[in-house]
Amino acid sequence: MDTLCLRVAWLQEITVRTELRKRFCNLVVPLVSIVAISAIAIEDLHSAVRPNILLILADDMGYGDLSCYGSLQIDTPHIDALAAEGVRCTQAYVTACVCAPSRAGLITGRYPNRFGFEHNLAYPKYINREWIALEQNETTIADCLKNVNYRTGIFGKWHLGESADWHLPNERGFDCFFGMLNGHHSYFPTPQKNHLWRQRKPVEEVRTPYLTDWITDEAIEFVNANNNDHPWFLYLSYNTPHNPLEAKPQDIALYSHIKDRKRRVYSAMQHALDENIGRLVNSLKERSQFDNTLVVFLSDNGGPCMANGSVNAPLRGQKGTLLEGGIRVPMIFRWPQHLPAGIEYHHPVSSLDLFPTFMAAANSDTVNHSGQTLELDGVDLQPFFSGHCKDSLPHKTLCWRWTPRGAAIRDGDWKLLRLPHMPPQLFDLSTDVSELRNLAAEYPDVTVALMAKLNNWELEFESQPRWMSAPHYNRYSREVYDEHYQLEQLE
Ligand code: CA
Repeated sequence: MDTLCLRVAWLQEITVRTELRKRFCNLVVPLVSIVAISAIAIEDLHSAVRPNILLILADDMGYGDLSCYGSLQIDTPHIDALAAEGVRCTQAYVTACVCAPSRAGLITGRYPNRFGFEHNLAYPKYINREWIALEQNETTIADCLKNVNYRTGIFGKWHLGESADWHLPNERGFDCFFGMLNGHHSYFPTPQKNHLWRQRKPVEEVRTPYLTDWITDEAIEFVNANNNDHPWFLYLSYNTPHNPLEAKPQDIALYSHIKDRKRRVYSAMQHALDENIGRLVNSLKERSQFDNTLVVFLSDNGGPCMANGSVNAPLRGQKGTLLEGGIRVPMIFRWPQHLPAGIEYHHPVSSLDLFPTFMAAANSDTVNHSGQTLELDGVDLQPFFSGHCKDSLPHKTLCWRWTPRGAAIRDGDWKLLRLPHMPPQLFDLSTDVSELRNLAAEYPDVTVALMAKLNNWELEFESQPRWMSAPHYNRYSREVYDEHYQLEQLE
């Protein structure tokens, strides 16, 4: 197609997207533009206008540790710019309060509880290691996008299985993989001491001294190798700022005024994360790919304040709790010409929504390799961000469960916690985002209704947890709920 045709195709595609969004919201609008689009071969249209998709996942990052989410200590100009040019969600959730099940929910678009993935990977001797992974029948975002001709790559942390060939990213929809199969890694790997992989083989050479830089180098190479002939899906799954706390000396020097060592090194790691995102963005701009890329940034769970010095203010709780500080995360979307720029979205959204949002952006159905429609738990967020669904919400209700350490439900502004070591906790998030005032005794009817609703959600599951993390973690549950948390930002 020549340039004019491409432009016409693009404009028509925008019109069709808009019409479909209106229809989705039950508004009666004729789809006249679909007729016009038939003049152009659909395949040409797809290859011409489908966006690249860049999913950036931080690991164990505090809700309050970006300057665009209120940090007064850590400066994150490159991530802030994504928010300034896109949609900043203030009530975004992940599906679990620890790494692996959160990633399982994100990559399948389904509550991980549905397929028994409630815990981080653990290997008790009485269970075959092949059992400990993302269930084989689950379809990933990468599977779906690869099926519609996207080039797919994951760089960084996988954490969805490492004990059989079918567990590996290259068997779960990804053309390219560089990174770690498990949940953490030293930031200064050596040829003798690393557990990094490239495709299906261990890495024996260190290319870049600092791992956050190295992962970005690999991601930039992946993008540059694609020559615009296929759209790409890049899952940039940083382990930053997960433990171990290791940063470059020059980055630590930027935060030398912070007395607490954990906080100082953590802040330096956040700086490296932001710098590297800026480096990737610049590379996309140089290749004129940035504005045709749907960028999403989020963290996989709340910051583990006690372990890495992160701050979830104004939220109480941390990684490993079902308080807001464990499950509410920063989430930013940027896609010029398709999503509004510089807005805040204040209704609950979920990492479950990424799968359907990406497939809608790719003008493709959410089907598995056999053509069966997938039963996803999320929704396409585009019409909600664009204001075409003003009278409805992406989610009235969201639920969490981490057997046996508790369960939670958010229903409208109510949040109910069901924990094994204390009576039910009921909070009104509209007036108490820090979850400080338990209203369960004051609103017993609400408490009972939400307990029943949470129980009904659990009855939907086909499977109980396929494995559990080591029992000694349960002892720590009471401590993390009782801990005193920093609820205000400090300079
Ligand atoms: Ca994590």
